[in-house]
Amino acid sequence: MKHFLIFGLVLIALSSNAQKKTKLDPNTAMVNANKEAAIKSLTEHYEADKKTALQIWDFAEVGYKENKSAALHVQHLKEAGFTVETGVAGIPTAFVATYGSGSPAIGILAEYDALPGLAQNAVAEKSPIAGKNAGHGCGHHLFGTASVSAGIAIKELIAAGKLKGTVRVYGCPAEEGGSGKVFLVRAGVFNDLDAVIHWHPDDVNAVTTTSALANKSAKFKFYGVSAHAAAAPDQGRSALDAVEAMDHMVNMMREHIPQETRIHYVITNGGKAPNVVPDFAEVYYYVRHPKRKDVVEIFDRVVKAAEGAALGTGTTMKYDIIGGTHDLLINKTLAEVMQTNLEKVGGVSYTETEKAFAQKLEPTFATQAPGIETATKVKPLSYVVEGNSGSTDVGDVSYAKPTVGLRGATWVPGTAAHSWQAVATGGTEIGTKGMLVASKTMALTAIDLMSNPILIQKATEEFKTSIGDYKYKALLGDIKPALNYRD
Ligand SMILES: [Zn+2]
Repeated sequence: MKHFLIFGLVLIALSSNAQKKTKLDPNTAMVNANKEAAIKSLTEHYEADKKTALQIWDFAEVGYKENKSAALHVQHLKEAGFTVETGVAGIPTAFVATYGSGSPAIGILAEYDALPGLAQNAVAEKSPIAGKNAGHGCGHHLFGTASVSAGIAIKELIAAGKLKGTVRVYGCPAEEGGSGKVFLVRAGVFNDLDAVIHWHPDDVNAVTTTSALANKSAKFKFYGVSAHAAAAPDQGRSALDAVEAMDHMVNMMREHIPQETRIHYVITNGGKAPNVVPDFAEVYYYVRHPKRKDVVEIFDRVVKAAEGAALGTGTTMKYDIIGGTHDLLINKTLAEVMQTNLEKVGGVSYTETEKAFAQKLEPTFATQAPGIETATKVKPLSYVVEGNSGSTDVGDVSYAKPTVGLRGATWVPGTAAHSWQAVATGGTEIGTKGMLVASKTMALTAIDLMSNPILIQKATEEFKTSIGDYKYKALLGDIKPALNYRD
């Protein structure tokens, strides 16, 4: 009797499951149809997007100077019917493009700045471009293009009456050290959103599940007295001495700060000639730690070292804050949604020519290449921290609204970010293929979020729990964007 009962229950369960599979509820059917439409649209736009990405790869404009790159994105968004506000938050190359109205409102972040000193041809050997400085070593030419394209795919669904709400594409300049998004967060441009979606070029396909380091950076300027270095050295006070004294003190400090801290510096001005006592010298510092609070405390100690150095060398010191970013808050509710969509989209596969490119590039890596097959796959969702991380101004956005992102395999697996190899691959179809994975995954995730209010509600609750009673305060204070920080 008992066995019959269980058998009967199993049958009921099986038949109701079968029903679920064959008869989708209208909302699920609509969501699936919208996802198919978005994939079709992005696939059709791929050739045009490839052209855009490679054009921006070629522009290779550094932080806050991304005039042509931002203009190209703005042009495409306007042509697609978006209302675009430019010069947002006092930054000429920042923009906010909006389509639709009311809630839900989903934001998609776009970046487009390049890195100085990395100009490189799109070939599998080190080949700097003569007369050119910057290169897209972080793949932001792909980043911006995929985000604009995903936004346009969502716009098409809103225009066709298949989705309700607002889609926004945020043009975010100067991610590399300029903290561009922090000024946008400070200006409140994310305040009426429900969620934010972003991505980043990488050598794997994975949803971002680990945080980033909070970071505060500044340029310390020392002013001394110049004099003939041989005839009248006693008349001089060396600003370079002050920089060296400061660096020495900070280097000793490393033993007495939490070991997860990262401090790095470059001397951006050390004087002009050995026979002149330098009356000006400058050093550019980054202070990073997983926790925002620790960054603030350690940064203040670095300032003390600078003050001490000035005192001991008879110089004066002032410092300009350049950047400051929060750690990145992970939203597991949104990460799960994105994971499902990334798995639906899948990884990339290489043609024979691309395989040959990868094989030529792999021996140039500092570490053993994991093999190109890893780019064909999607990493399972995992919250285990693997390796070290950098910093991102997306961190500040994640403190404004529930935020989710992915990494798309745009580089030959094993490629380090900010390398000539990353620039080279970003200029080939290996890069643009990975870009398509990202644009599709972001569009599908936006469709889910705009179709299911429960997801937004759950993500918002999780976001509120993560924030607790912390009141957002930009690490860089109330400074204006350092629009010339790359000069
Ligand atoms: Zn980057």
